[in-house]
Amino acid sequence: MRPDSPARLDNWLERLQASGCRLTNARRAVVAVMVSSQRALGAHAVFHLARQQSPALGLVTVYRTLDTLQALGLVQRVHQRQGCHSYVPACDAHQYLLVCQMCGQADPVEAGALDSFIARLARRSGFQIREQWLQLSGICHHCQPQPA
Ligand SMILES: [Zn+2]
Repeated sequence: MRPDSPARLDNWLERLQASGCRLTNARRAVVAVMVSSQRALGAHAVFHLARQQSPALGLVTVYRTLDTLQALGLVQRVHQRQGCHSYVPACDAHQYLLVCQMCGQADPVEAGALDSFIARLARRSGFQIREQWLQLSGICHHCQPQPA
């Protein structure tokens, strides 16, 4: 679990409640799994993890809760090679994601120079950029074959 997770969990639950969701144990379990996840998780993986907290959880609740969390901007979808997708806690506007194709590890990285590039692009093209979403997929340090 991330060090800031308990406060973050409360914040996510408040946002969910404010959006009109009833905070059932099943929903809480889904939120608890997502808030502390450092990997991209598919709905089935969330289901299996959250069921340890809430055995009565159904897959439909997982899908609905993930949709709501995404609509609130708390999680973001990660596209996988097979055409399916999974979810990670949303990163800041000035970060982008490095996602491992082997283990699903998702690391937010500061955009740095990319930010000024995008600002220049907006100026040059006259295009008003409202959202930016960049994901780089590859193989993380741990999953790379070690040199012999
Ligand atoms: Zn990996």
